[in-house]
Amino acid sequence: RTAIVWFRRDLRLTDNPALRCAAEQATHVIPVFIHSPDEEGEWAPGAASCWWLHHSLSALDADLRGRGSRLIVRQGSALSSLRQLIRDTGATLVTWNRLYEPAIVARDTAIKTALGDSGIEAESHNAALLLEPWAIKNVQQQPYRVFTPFWRAAVAKLDGLPSPRPAPRRIPGPEDWPASTPLSKLDLLPKIRWDAGLAERWQPGEAGALEQLDSFADEADRYSTARDRPDESGTSSLSPHLHFGEIGPRQIFAQLHLLSPSSDSLATYAREIGWREFAHHLLFHFPHTATKPLDVRFERWSWQRSRKPLAAWQRGLTGIPIVDAGMRELWHTGWMHNRVRMIVASFLTKNLQTHWLQGARWFWDTLVDADLANNTLGWQWTAGCGADAAPYYRIFNPVLQAEKFDPHRHYIRRWVPEIAALPDRFVHQPWSAPEPVLEQSGVKLGKSYPKPIVDLRESREQALAAYEAMKTLP
Ligand code: FAD
Repeated sequence: RTAIVWFRRDLRLTDNPALRCAAEQATHVIPVFIHSPDEEGEWAPGAASCWWLHHSLSALDADLRGRGSRLIVRQGSALSSLRQLIRDTGATLVTWNRLYEPAIVARDTAIKTALGDSGIEAESHNAALLLEPWAIKNVQQQPYRVFTPFWRAAVAKLDGLPSPRPAPRRIPGPEDWPASTPLSKLDLLPKIRWDAGLAERWQPGEAGALEQLDSFADEADRYSTARDRPDESGTSSLSPHLHFGEIGPRQIFAQLHLLSPSSDSLATYAREIGWREFAHHLLFHFPHTATKPLDVRFERWSWQRSRKPLAAWQRGLTGIPIVDAGMRELWHTGWMHNRVRMIVASFLTKNLQTHWLQGARWFWDTLVDADLANNTLGWQWTAGCGADAAPYYRIFNPVLQAEKFDPHRHYIRRWVPEIAALPDRFVHQPWSAPEPVLEQSGVKLGKSYPKPIVDLRESREQALAAYEAMKTLP
């Protein structure tokens, strides 16, 4: 019997139930990746994700070859490609691991039915989550909208969590392999090579993911204090690996013993993985939130439409150092520290009154970990229009945040070198430095580094007034 394993965002051999199922049931296994970005609705992978995908597929192919197999690549409609492969190989079984974004759920459901109708067995599995979105409901049998009770209910169900399974030792292939499109033909790499910073920072692929988990495991005990410091590498940096399924949450739970965490740090880390689960729960049950706020009152919000402040924010030229540092870190490395993501998102949606979707779209294109569930949750949470959101009036003060979380100014000095020579007390707010100090430090505000594009206090008050006005609308 021949089986096709349809790889999607589960680009690993370990703890991969679709692969294991095919290897157990078939004598010939054909691993396939089909590039069909048009089938992801409005959220086809952005430029940084495409870069990652290219390298991850290349690593997966190498790992498969180490086990006597290889990756067959196709592009175009997923259903047509699968049908063509079934004709080419005589496969009678297709396996894959489930995804939860609305457009993909609709597509996969249609594919399952179509394959079934033509007598092909189609089996899907869970590789991406500890518990799938339909596994947890509140007492009224409704999805949760608040994180803490959601996570409490989830933890109560985790005891039966299956242990991660090792990679199959050999993956038996057919005698004649079907044709494969060369990876380079997918055009995933940028034409203008802006990706040097990404290559410096990341190692896409399963081996990179496992190494990253090993090195985090040595440091995980510092997580609860180090995780809020963008100047230190106190978080696990596993987000792009998790997004592409180069590692799964069951593996992380097993390796760090997160079912019974031995420290506060590990318990805090388990909760962060819990936020990822919650984000997937929300997007699955409230699929419209990919483009619309969960809190419908915010549909009436009159956002600022000018492109100029958005462009300054995107380029890291707002004149607010912590915001600019974050946006430059993002551009250079494809990643931004969580604390800084919250600061830049609050600044965009509140101080600049710009629609959260504009920010979400920029992140989508530039983050290597761009993930529809996590990104939607992060933006709506910060903008105050999502589930369990920060109350609207909690507008981050970027200067106080920077003082607290970048106390030695290392983060700013690294990413905003134009103002690095300023004395410590002015680094987070160069506009407050007296002229002679600026001069001495070689800073020409408005020339070598921008003046703030908004007044922080005034814009905060305007945002609060707009919020009060919205609340009184019928
Ligand atoms: P760690 O602190 O080591 O956390 C471990 C894992 O837990 C992460 O890899 C991630 O999978 C999960 N996680 C942690 N925090 C969150 C969270 N708040 N929500 C959901 N999952 C979480 N994360 C993405 O993976 N993709 C995104 O597109 C994304 N967009 C965001 C946008 C905004 C505006 C905000 C405020 C947050 C966003 N996040 C996103 C969440 C968070 O910032 C990143 O997951 C985290 O910074 C990744 O770094 P890490 O792997 O070192 O995290």
